[in-house]
Amino acid sequence: MKSPSYFLYARKSTESEERQQLSIPAQIDELRTFAQKENLTLVDVLTESKTAKQTGRIVFNEMIRRIQEGEAQGILSWNPDRLARNAVDAGQIIHLLDTGKLLDLKFPTVLFQNNPQGLFMLSIAFGQSKYYVDSLSENTKRGLRQKVRKGEFPGLAPLGYLNDRTIKKIVIDKQTYSIVQEMFTLYAIGSYRLEDMSNFLAKKGIFTKGEKHISKDRVKFLLTNPLYFGYFRYNGEIHQGIHEPLITKKLFDSVQEVIKERGFKRPKEPYNYPFAGFIRCGECGMTITAEKHIKRYKTINRLQIFVYYRCSKKNKTIDCSQQYIPQDTLLPQLNSIIQRVSLSAADYNWFINRINKDQQKEQSAVVAIVQGLKKDVEDIKLKLNKLLDSYLDSVIERTDYLKKKEELVSQKKTLEEKISFLEQSPNKWLEPMKKWFDSALQADKIASDNTNLFEKRNFLKESGSNLILKNKKAHCSWKNQWAALCAAPTSRNLVLGAGIEPTTRRL
Ligand SMILES: [Zn+2]
Repeated sequence: MKSPSYFLYARKSTESEERQQLSIPAQIDELRTFAQKENLTLVDVLTESKTAKQTGRIVFNEMIRRIQEGEAQGILSWNPDRLARNAVDAGQIIHLLDTGKLLDLKFPTVLFQNNPQGLFMLSIAFGQSKYYVDSLSENTKRGLRQKVRKGEFPGLAPLGYLNDRTIKKIVIDKQTYSIVQEMFTLYAIGSYRLEDMSNFLAKKGIFTKGEKHISKDRVKFLLTNPLYFGYFRYNGEIHQGIHEPLITKKLFDSVQEVIKERGFKRPKEPYNYPFAGFIRCGECGMTITAEKHIKRYKTINRLQIFVYYRCSKKNKTIDCSQQYIPQDTLLPQLNSIIQRVSLSAADYNWFINRINKDQQKEQSAVVAIVQGLKKDVEDIKLKLNKLLDSYLDSVIERTDYLKKKEELVSQKKTLEEKISFLEQSPNKWLEPMKKWFDSALQADKIASDNTNLFEKRNFLKESGSNLILKNKKAHCSWKNQWAALCAAPTSRNLVLGAGIEPTTRRL
């Protein structure tokens, strides 16, 4: 038997009792999604703004006529009460089903089966307000989904935002938004724990409703909430919001990195192992971790703590043979690596002069970069569409869909942020470089001061070092092209002969 084709029929009444009913576009959205999922063939989309309590609906009557002529054999509507709420219209539908002109009715809210029981249930559904009441809760959910589609966050606003009841949107809370910004900035530094953030909030007067400190879990929830950079999660799925962001995606990403990294550490001793977690093993590729050994000197009744670094040996395919290395052995090696990128004042001036001279020339390069980035954004949009299609066609699972969508949306936001950054101030791409040269000027000082190991760690991380430890020797390459340049000053003239240019589209 040939499968029936359907009319999509959406109706909204202007009557006050039906005020809770959602708009026609909302119904159409839902029904189209349903049709795709159920693989229904739609012949036409029909809409009507009139009550179904009285007869005489023009579009409805026209639909009945077209069904009699065999144009479609099914109707897709939100709920039986959208089709008919008076006896005549209900009778017409049932008659068409009886005579086989109509083969099927589809409602996302109610399962209809074309058999004697089904027809009986349907005749009750038509004109019965019970169904209307039953479908209210479903309508509320549908209302939320529609809100989400429009980019409106449907939940309770988190710290930094308020729910504005009049416009039914979330707005920035002038009292607390800067506290949220400060919290993200602090946590991104990487030397604070979630408890520290809870204490920070307490100092700013932010407590739970019961006047207690905000829990670690809650702090983590805030620090991982995409709402703050302009997106939000609903039902496990990420959506672009229309609210104003509080922080940049870049800052959000740095915070996520810190959270990930700190997850591996024992929370009670965060300060003891500055070089754990970001150096890799040269034999098996796993991260280098740390541990301490306590030695007791009985004669002088003193304890001494020794810190060791070693491969975490988590690679199950390689039986790693690397041994541990004491921090005291590692430290001078890292110092000499830091020293390698240090700049003399003269070199520093030479670089900065060169940069300033070339700035004008780079404007056109920036335009090209922006064009490239925009194309990348378009590509991601296409991918997102394809992804949704695959999901609706049941080619991929919901969990895969959600994961991939979040990935793509995250990339898109990062790119869009770069674009607006470059468009607002075309010379700003030079600033990270200038900042880097500024820190290279400090490298000597950082290398020679052994009282602050975390400063060394931060310098190595910010300069984009790729650190590898093998046979108790640390090796370093530089992800940051400017750092690489400083580390090899003899090649400076060669590299800069053609002018300082952004060599990659991804700055
Ligand atoms: Zn290893």
